[in-house]
Amino acid sequence: MLPQQARAPARTTRRNHRHMGRDTLKIPGPLGQRTRGRWRLALRRTLLPAARFAADVLPRLVDMGIAATLLLLTAPLVIGRGVASVAQTGQLFDFDALIGRYRVPIHRLRFAGHGPLRGLAVWFSVLKGDLAIVGPRPLPAAEAAMVPVSDAVRFTVRPGLVSPFGVKRQVGIAHVGESRLDRDFVYGQSLQGDLGLAARSLVTGVLGGGAARETPAVLNFFGIPILNTSMAEAVDWLMAASGPDGGARHGPQQLCFVNPDCLNIAWGDAGYRGALLAAERVLPDGIGIHIGCRMQGVALKENVNGTDLFPLLCAAAAEQGRSLFLLGARPGIAAAAAASMQQRYPRLRIAGTRDGYFDAAAEPAVIEQVNASGADILLVAFGAPRQDVWLHRHRAELLPAVRMGVGGLFDFYSGRIARAPVWLRELGLEWAFRLLQEPGRMWRRYVIGNPLFLYRVWRQAQAPQRFALPGPRQDGNAAAQGFEVASDT
Ligand code: UDP
Repeated sequence: MLPQQARAPARTTRRNHRHMGRDTLKIPGPLGQRTRGRWRLALRRTLLPAARFAADVLPRLVDMGIAATLLLLTAPLVIGRGVASVAQTGQLFDFDALIGRYRVPIHRLRFAGHGPLRGLAVWFSVLKGDLAIVGPRPLPAAEAAMVPVSDAVRFTVRPGLVSPFGVKRQVGIAHVGESRLDRDFVYGQSLQGDLGLAARSLVTGVLGGGAARETPAVLNFFGIPILNTSMAEAVDWLMAASGPDGGARHGPQQLCFVNPDCLNIAWGDAGYRGALLAAERVLPDGIGIHIGCRMQGVALKENVNGTDLFPLLCAAAAEQGRSLFLLGARPGIAAAAAASMQQRYPRLRIAGTRDGYFDAAAEPAVIEQVNASGADILLVAFGAPRQDVWLHRHRAELLPAVRMGVGGLFDFYSGRIARAPVWLRELGLEWAFRLLQEPGRMWRRYVIGNPLFLYRVWRQAQAPQRFALPGPRQDGNAAAQGFEVASDT
């Protein structure tokens, strides 16, 4: 009995094993496909690691290729500069001590001594592998030590001559901050993306580079004071002004964004000009202001436009419990924009929405609806100048502590109109994208408006005394009184 009992399980096990073998072949999925796709699998097993290896090595090879080619093409200059450095100082290179990939100390080389072309030596750092052409900004040791653990991923790639933050900062659109841009870069890096960024840096270098310029607190465009501020500061101010005691303490606050088109309109439209002068804050929107600042010999801190500010405002409002009223755009668009932002920031309070197509007779009802909503911040999207003039005219009737004109913003966030891709914005060409989207409506604004704006800025630079800013502001409206409207003649 016992030996039979003892053998029985062994027979069962063998039988089970055979069954299991057969069953395994029937299991759907990769196990079941093994015998059929053997060659494909073998190929994939060898090709995939090779492709991954190539993806790792290729950018490095490209960097080395570009560095070697540039050094070869400029060989006479490089050699001449090297000889001059040795003659001047007895040594070839100077260097900046920085922190590189995996936090290893690296040297960013430059030719020793004084005079031009010292920067050419940086290509030796690329050749050596201390620097990549594109990567996060190389940090000195003290700054690197302060990078929080959550941002340490930036040290998994080589620092670059060109950084995503640097490119965006040149044109004033590095709104989300360096650590977020570095993280996005590391996780989304591709050879194609790197080459695109390097190419764009050539253009942004021209737009934002050159000698260091003064960054005044207030910019002057045709006598209109524009606050030279950052996106983060603007959001902080919005939160403070719309807070429980903000409105009571400071009274209503009107905020306007101006681009070259707005300033062209304000040049000849006294009503709009008065609204801008009366507003508590006018903020700079767009690459045109950036170029205009350069023409005046000053630097724009950041491009603080409503479209980029909106998500930051929603995030802060959701966190701090401020409510928004979205007024303007075609029927359904403000509500769609509100819904999309509420999906992104679930705690965001939308006090109400309403379209911007109503006649003068409906204005009291619109104002009543806004006031009854209890909103802290009112966003009005009728387009400039109507929205800003409307807010100015109804200043005393409206209750929200903060009111701002935001142009076509709801069209973008509802998805009705696509916004220009980031690479076009980095090149300062968002306006060209809008021109292509709506040529019939936009050609006058951009094709005629842009050169006209630059011409007027040039005129102001020639005769700044004609465009003096109004005196210190007691309250909004006082600043507008007695202001002369400039004329082209
Ligand atoms: N709009 C409106 N009521 C009007 C006319 C226009 O609400 O009577 C809206 C229009 O639907 C659009 C916005 O105002 O959403 C204007 O957009 P535009 O692109 O002209 O503004 P920008 O940002 O260029 O100032």
